[in-house]
Amino acid sequence: MTAQLPASGPDLEFQAHVEDGRLWLQTCAACQTTIFMPRIICPHCGSLRLAWHPASGLGTVYSRTVLHGRPKPGDTRPSRHALVLVDLDEGPRMMSRLPGTDPDDITIGMRVKARIEGETGARFVVFDPNAEAGA
Ligand SMILES: [Zn+2]
Repeated sequence: MTAQLPASGPDLEFQAHVEDGRLWLQTCAACQTTIFMPRIICPHCGSLRLAWHPASGLGTVYSRTVLHGRPKPGDTRPSRHALVLVDLDEGPRMMSRLPGTDPDDITIGMRVKARIEGETGARFVVFDPNAEAGA
């Protein structure tokens, strides 16, 4: 997933934490729901009292979609990568990738841990398998 610089607001704050190497999520002070994507208003109760908290980074693969790219010049096989939906332990679902894992090795229900990847100014959240965390 290519990182896009958010224009303003909660998206910008989320990205600022990612740039610092941290996965932080908003939690609603009224109903305690943890929220992603970043928002101004709690989608569950309408409260404006959203606060940023560090996330555990732990989650479970909910789904996997393998995308086939065009072969690069010199390559005989098309490039493949997987888009995953990860259910974070805090509750929200996040779309991401497991760049260090073969798409065939990604299974539904697999435990994963978040990691920040990319260059300064274009960092983004990816996941790695996290076998020792258990299910
Ligand atoms: Zn709420």
